[in-house]
Amino acid sequence: MKNIEELMQILPESFTPVDRELVTRAYQAAEKAHAGQVRVSGDTYTTHLLAVAAILADMNVQPSVIAAGLLHDILTDTPVKLNDLKKEFGDEIAGLVEGVTRLTNMPRISRADQHPEEAQETGNNGAQGSGEMVADSHGRRVDLKNENIRKTFIAMSDDIRIIIIKLADRLHNMRTLGYMPEAKRKQIAQETLDIFAPLASRLGIWRVKWELEDLAFRNAMPEEYKQIAQHLSTRHADREKEIHQIMIRLKDVMGQAGIQAELSGRPKHIYSIYRKMLEKNKPFNMVMDLRGVRIIVPQKEDCYAALGVIHSHWRPIPQEFDDYIAAPKDNLYQSLHTAVIYDDGKPLEVQIRTSEMHQSAEYGIAAHWRYKEKTSKRDDAYEQRLVWMRKLMEWRQEVEETQELADGKSDIFEDRVFVFTPRGDIIELPVGSTPIDFAYHVHTEIGHRCRGAKVNGKLVSLDYPLKTGDQVSILTSKQGGPSRDWLNPNLGLVKTQRARAKIFQWFKRQDREQNLSTGKAILEKELHRLGMNEVNLEMVVQYFEYKTLDDLYVALGCGEISPGRIINKLGEFEKQQKDPLFTPKAPLVEKPGSVSVLGLKGLLTTMGRCCNPMPGDDIVGYITRGRGATIHRQDCPNILRVEDRERIIRVSWGEKVMTFPVPVEVKAYDRQGLMGDIITILTQEGINILNANLRVTQSYATINLVLEIGNIGQLSKVLNRIENLPNVMEVYRVKPG
Ligand code: MN
Repeated sequence: MKNIEELMQILPESFTPVDRELVTRAYQAAEKAHAGQVRVSGDTYTTHLLAVAAILADMNVQPSVIAAGLLHDILTDTPVKLNDLKKEFGDEIAGLVEGVTRLTNMPRISRADQHPEEAQETGNNGAQGSGEMVADSHGRRVDLKNENIRKTFIAMSDDIRIIIIKLADRLHNMRTLGYMPEAKRKQIAQETLDIFAPLASRLGIWRVKWELEDLAFRNAMPEEYKQIAQHLSTRHADREKEIHQIMIRLKDVMGQAGIQAELSGRPKHIYSIYRKMLEKNKPFNMVMDLRGVRIIVPQKEDCYAALGVIHSHWRPIPQEFDDYIAAPKDNLYQSLHTAVIYDDGKPLEVQIRTSEMHQSAEYGIAAHWRYKEKTSKRDDAYEQRLVWMRKLMEWRQEVEETQELADGKSDIFEDRVFVFTPRGDIIELPVGSTPIDFAYHVHTEIGHRCRGAKVNGKLVSLDYPLKTGDQVSILTSKQGGPSRDWLNPNLGLVKTQRARAKIFQWFKRQDREQNLSTGKAILEKELHRLGMNEVNLEMVVQYFEYKTLDDLYVALGCGEISPGRIINKLGEFEKQQKDPLFTPKAPLVEKPGSVSVLGLKGLLTTMGRCCNPMPGDDIVGYITRGRGATIHRQDCPNILRVEDRERIIRVSWGEKVMTFPVPVEVKAYDRQGLMGDIITILTQEGINILNANLRVTQSYATINLVLEIGNIGQLSKVLNRIENLPNVMEVYRVKPG
């Protein structure tokens, strides 16, 4: 394809003049930006862009996708910026181009775009990646690794059209691979077999899958390719004639049965022949004896009618029948497959499907656009297919990994993020994982010595939630261990069980004396902060079944038990002693009691008008249609009369919520937004502020708050969180009196 006029001619007929103008505009922008760039072949770079657009046009994609196809290399190879694209082409197209750029820059995937300088390079990260894959002798591991790359690919594209553009890009680069040096060629070909062809297959785009496979096979294994191709060409003429005769015969048989059918010989793909030879461990001739025809009929019912006709004329081969219409394949492929013994005594494969199923098989997920009017952008079926595909991949991986995840079972069913090491290896972590989780995943020692992290080259805080596609590098100290803060669940620094277990182990290995003094210091600091001076620690020691107070300190010191649990227990014990902990001078704030429905938290409740239950009455709930439960007194005549006893449930009055005003002081170096951050934490914890006062002297801030606190555990948690805000030096409860 040499110029834009040729592209214009093959655009789908449904494109309006406005659509065509958009495509032209995208082309002009690309031509200007890529001006002067050439491919290894010597062609201008725009030939590549036009070819990619043409592949997309053949799939009948929307105008915006063709425009994005023309612009797909503009952010990588030219000075044009994302904002320029947004301004000129809007968010949708800019978003697609940005997505493709993300995939292009993905570590582990080589750039197959044929810039002259890339043709010389041999040792980029892509080369390493592929080399490892080939060199790895454990087949399953290789598969898992490739599966991870494919999953990352999908996860990094929030829009399936991004992957379709990337496939079109790769397809054209494969078609022109001959211009690249041999080493590069093999590497890109292997990657295409490992990553791109399976992706096309998973999206059900057979047409692209087959072409990618044949092109890749030819470059990755030129000898094997040549052999099969030669075999094919020597038998080519005979074969054509034979298939042609079979088709005439079948058409005739269908006509007699009154079935309107179109017949075609099935093109044999070289790579699929090779695969079959490997699978069945048979030489070429045996595999090639399998001849195939395809029958296309108007309606689904005709498929089964046609099948009946075939089976009544020729003897079906047992085990070779598959009904993919009733039970579609994973990628929604539908067809009937059978094999019969033909007139000449040799097997004949037959596929039967409707033309709609055929379109869907050839173009997969892209087929959707072929039937769509251009106005509807995304419809439900398409979205469903996409969601389904993502689910499928997650599920598959989970099944594979179940065995391997002995220590982190709880992580299995959470959503995942895929991030990269500096070398480009993919690390899979649960959503919400932090750089510390990442560090422990890479290596326990790296975890212990983690002191900071960079994501995509920028420093981030250690509680940064990693996102798919992030490249993470860990800054380590020469020696030292994890910080005790990492185990503090209030700070959200560690997400995975695996990392938590490793941190815990590290502390446990420290010697007893050290753990004892650390534990003691932690608890004393916490008690001081909470203004709890005279507490009975012996009760806690007994409750948690430690032998001595020292043992409790050691457990605290090594992270076996959190200060929060001890404080909570202390709070309960103190409460039993008539609350010496809180001896407030201000009156208690008492929130109205609410009804809690046992076993059905959060159910909508209304009070029965007939008996007007008051707190303290014995009550029951009656499940209504659409209005939750109505609360009645147990002796309410209406309740006694109910016949459908199953609709009556046990309920009880919720506990009265008591809160206490607690004065708290925060000391910090003043900074902008400090008060806002504190208020955010209080809001998140559901704590009311009764009074607030801020004084600043020479950039030194003292904040006095009066908080409405329900229990000591809540106070401990919130003080903990505030103390970990940047610039905060100290937070403590101001002792009453
Ligand atoms: Mn490209």
